[in-house]
Amino acid sequence: MSEIDANGTCRTCGANVIFAKMLPSLNLAPIDVSLEHGGNVELRRNSKGFLFAKVTGPDCEQRKYISHFATCKQADDWRNKSKPVDERPSRDEQLDTIRTILSNL
Ligand SMILES: [Zn+2]
Repeated sequence: MSEIDANGTCRTCGANVIFAKMLPSLNLAPIDVSLEHGGNVELRRNSKGFLFAKVTGPDCEQRKYISHFATCKQADDWRNKSKPVDERPSRDEQLDTIRTILSNL
């Protein structure tokens, strides 16, 4: 899997996400790249370059991310219709963040 293959877009809200296989289920899951979220998901790349995501405990020292399922803007809209316009970083900013994350794995 190349860097580009790992980049994805949420079909529901259009946010840029990283697709990684969850361990141990190996289901493909979107990972949110907003670094301000203190998540519980650790991203790892194996020797073949495939990305994996694993839910970790609080003692894990890796930088942690959060599943996009928990942060999806569309889900917020469903919960709170009065929420203001999109507060997400721009698409370019999100892609920059994704490149930074992937280059540090
Ligand atoms: Zn979404």
